[in-house]
Amino acid sequence: MEHAFAENSFNMASEDHTGQQLDYLHGLFLLHSRFNHSCSPNSKIPITGGEITHLRSFATRDIVPGEEIAFSYAADFGCRTREERHRELRFVCNCDACQPRTPFQKLSDMRRRLARGLQYLQIGVDLDGQRQDAPDRPLITDPQLKRAAETFRIPLSSRFIYGLLMMFLLEQEGLLDDFLAERLGRNVSVPFAMFETESNVQVAKLAMAQHDWLGRLCVAFQLYGRADAADQAVATLFRALSGR
Ligand SMILES: [Zn+2]
Repeated sequence: MEHAFAENSFNMASEDHTGQQLDYLHGLFLLHSRFNHSCSPNSKIPITGGEITHLRSFATRDIVPGEEIAFSYAADFGCRTREERHRELRFVCNCDACQPRTPFQKLSDMRRRLARGLQYLQIGVDLDGQRQDAPDRPLITDPQLKRAAETFRIPLSSRFIYGLLMMFLLEQEGLLDDFLAERLGRNVSVPFAMFETESNVQVAKLAMAQHDWLGRLCVAFQLYGRADAADQAVATLFRALSGR
């Protein structure tokens, strides 16, 4: 019984009304425990705040009759390669992103590794909340850039581009569902709202007027390497938010 519970239960973070995390709860849900895993899932059980007493799952794309409904067993698999995912899952997944040596699988590994690096550049820590220290396989190969990320000195223009690139990569990967788009969209909308230098504001507005993520990204690349009058304030803000 203990083994069955450990393999099939769900971790559910409990929060009070202020969003402060109280405890980790585990729940066994008879229907949800029957769904299998996919690294390219067609459904999602979104993380929600508050006291959790029930789970809800949503389709994240059209599901054809007869198609198996699956969700991802780990929230951070969008930033992990096939090898890393299988190590964590402790079984071999056969989803589209895991079919070995296919063009999609190779691209998928590159996109997910890049997404992990972009996240590091935006928040200054890796998926485990720690600074990465792996000289044999560094996530960010440029030590100056890595240091800038860890001390929140990434310019606003770069933050805007990283946010857009992340959206594009996850969209290409088939992972940009509405829940993720809302959460990660803040990494675009917040830098966009903070630009102060007029020439940067104009380019950012033009970028956001485009109709898709690739279009926005292509325009935003004009900002790459540009300083903004708000850069110092942004560094201070991110430092305060991180508590570091
Ligand atoms: Zn897979």
